Amino acid sequence: MKAFSGTTGLILNEPLLWERGLKGRCAFSFPEDDVDSSPLDPELASGGPDFPDLSEVDVVRHYTRLSQWNFGVDTGMYPLGSCTMKYNPKINEKMAGLKGLAGAHPLLAGYLSQGALKMMFELEGLLTEITGMDAATLQPAAGAHGELTGMLVIHAYHQSRGSVRTKIIVPDTAHGTNPASAALCGYQPVSVASSEQGILSPEAIAAVMDEDTAGIMVTNPNTLGLFEENIRQIAGIVHEKGGQVYCDGANMNAVMGIVSMGAMGVDVLHLNLHKTFSTPHGCGGPGSGPVCVREHLARFLPVPRVIEKNGVYALSEDCPESIGKLHAFYGNFGVMVKAYSYIRTMGADGLKKASQFAVLNANYIKERLKGVFHLPYDRPCMHECVFSDKIQSAGKITTLDMAKRLMDYGFHPPTIYFPLVVHGALMIEPTETESMENIDLFIEALKSIAREAEENPELLRQAPHKPKVTRLDEVAAARKPQLAG
Ligand SMILES: *Cc1c(COP(=O)(O)O)cnc(C)c1O
Repeated sequence: MKAFSGTTGLILNEPLLWERGLKGRCAFSFPEDDVDSSPLDPELASGGPDFPDLSEVDVVRHYTRLSQWNFGVDTGMYPLGSCTMKYNPKINEKMAGLKGLAGAHPLLAGYLSQGALKMMFELEGLLTEITGMDAATLQPAAGAHGELTGMLVIHAYHQSRGSVRTKIIVPDTAHGTNPASAALCGYQPVSVASSEQGILSPEAIAAVMDEDTAGIMVTNPNTLGLFEENIRQIAGIVHEKGGQVYCDGANMNAVMGIVSMGAMGVDVLHLNLHKTFSTPHGCGGPGSGPVCVREHLARFLPVPRVIEKNGVYALSEDCPESIGKLHAFYGNFGVMVKAYSYIRTMGADGLKKASQFAVLNANYIKERLKGVFHLPYDRPCMHECVFSDKIQSAGKITTLDMAKRLMDYGFHPPTIYFPLVVHGALMIEPTETESMENIDLFIEALKSIAREAEENPELLRQAPHKPKVTRLDEVAAARKPQLAG
């Protein structure tokens, strides 16, 4: 039998520190006093807060055990589609932790920050080169923040031409942040359905694009993991009516070094450094969502801009048409260091290879699981593939049941029920760093689950069985969380 890395063996229960404490326990020892004690704070002398008394080993074990209840990409395969939970080389963390970089104060004078400014300047250059764009800002703190920045840039562009536009086209496969960012900027999102092939058709865009429409927000590759093949034609239709093309580049992991967004007709693009460029992602950040633009939009980018003159780097606020500032100082600097380190260590060939492997791995999974699970769009995918529970739902087994069961096999479940256009979606993104052995184990686990769905459906309905916490009442878990171990 195959050995899966599922949750078995020693998993210890863990009470709260308050339940573990015992009066008189202490985590440190001091030499005996040789002076009279005198309390500094009369409040503390009268008892102070109710902290438990604990020994050092109590504290260390408590936090170590809690950390073992966690699951991350450093623990095992984490195939969340649309999130790119890829393994990030530790060298990049090390670079971001270098004293001179981690300790640099954002208010240091320019002449004392030349290295940091130069790195930012070069990172902007590298990102524009990778995407085929002309200028970039590193300021936004996340993808959605980048979208807002991009929308504001497009708004400023139309305003500068005296053009008032109220709508923006957003495909039905878009990440939820897309219409939200457009709406926050005052635009009314106009939803467009994707075709039978899971991509946008030029006809559908031509039918809605008019001179009241500021442009289109398109994700390429899209959230079905499919490449928008008609993008150039679509960009042409949008440009012809004076609109701008925004590309959500959160899925850049599939196309680094392969596709030029500029050549595709994209005017504005955001990247997620915390998906594609080596910052671990989740738990609210910090992240970074740089925005790259074509030349005609560079003057609207946020301030301060990093500029270079005769080998000297500086932050400039001298950009009268800028949309202004979107983040304190100039963004999340540590994330930029990791991206810079990643790009420089990978090099152009390495980045391209990473994308090629990401695409190869996803297609391998798609081909091997096709038929075991229903594949709504049976065509080559990019870095992720989307199945549905259509086959298993005949036996009243849902995507949720199968995703929960996967935990018993030691895998983090993939993204489920997204994108919304696929009913019961199961969206898998293996990323480029998983070995074939790991991917084969994952495939076998899913095949075994599909067999169980037929032979022993009850097992799935109650899954997971092995983790510390088994099937949750998800509504109660959200409404009445019980945080005690
Ligand atoms: C993750 C993601 C976003 C949002 O990025 P955040 O950094 O989470 O704000 C937007 N679009 C797509 C396609 C994404 O995958």
